Amino acid sequence: MRGLDTSIRVVHMKIEIQEMTHNKGRIVFLDADPSIVNAIRRTMISDVPKMAIEKIEYHLGAIMDEGGKEFESVSPLFDEMIAHRLGLLPVPTDLDVFVFRSKCVCNGEGCPNCTIMYSLNKKGPCTVYSGDLEPLGDAKFKIKDDLVPIVKLNENQAILAYATAELSTGKDHAKYSPVCGVGHRYSAKISIDSAKCDHDARCIAVCPKDVFSKEGKKIVVAHPERCNLCMACVESCELNCVKVQEDPQRIVFRYETDGSLSAKDLLMRSLKILEEKFTGFSEQISALQE
Ligand SMILES: [Zn+2]
Repeated sequence: MRGLDTSIRVVHMKIEIQEMTHNKGRIVFLDADPSIVNAIRRTMISDVPKMAIEKIEYHLGAIMDEGGKEFESVSPLFDEMIAHRLGLLPVPTDLDVFVFRSKCVCNGEGCPNCTIMYSLNKKGPCTVYSGDLEPLGDAKFKIKDDLVPIVKLNENQAILAYATAELSTGKDHAKYSPVCGVGHRYSAKISIDSAKCDHDARCIAVCPKDVFSKEGKKIVVAHPERCNLCMACVESCELNCVKVQEDPQRIVFRYETDGSLSAKDLLMRSLKILEEKFTGFSEQISALQE
């Protein structure tokens, strides 16, 4: 590998956190390359691990309630469909506690460090919701969104099942991806040529994001950060006084988690994973040069 230029290009960029709630983040990267932001996006989708239900054991045969009434362990949906729905539920994930089952000290047998067990015990007629899954152990592992409908049980139908959640990544299955909406785009540079403008406010009427507003008679760009570059304003303006351009210096990055991880934890974890990957890569290159 002699002659290969392995000098490191240091990228100086600034970030501006515009929104950071429990499950949503909106960050503006200034003077960054889209490839860097895209690397974070891809890491969030496929490399940051999360807990999800992987195995379900259904009770077969009759189920009795406390009063001795007998229910059939059937439902209008196939067990596989119910399993699929359970698999997609957001299981709370503490990445400082949980480890991959295959790398756990229990040798993959399942223990509190790598597994969460849930029980599901419902008798019809009723709708079974995600909130009906009861964690065996700490109540903090209750499913994050408790109103996800799973199945509607009819009279005399019941479901009794045990579900096991474990840690994996989006590379393995989409249910292990903690992020459900993530994307980036250039920010918009919007200007209005007031001298040309007839103040007819067509751009205000067509803009789906309410970017423009009126100050007296004058139309002003009140919220440029809301613009999604749909160009409806440019098309509506016959006088060509609205100009919308992409600003490559400002990349807006938005993402939303499914609730299993907080938006902040997801961001920090993806940056940590990227850092580890690059450190490993750089070490391998250095080893080749020796
Ligand atoms: Zn274990």
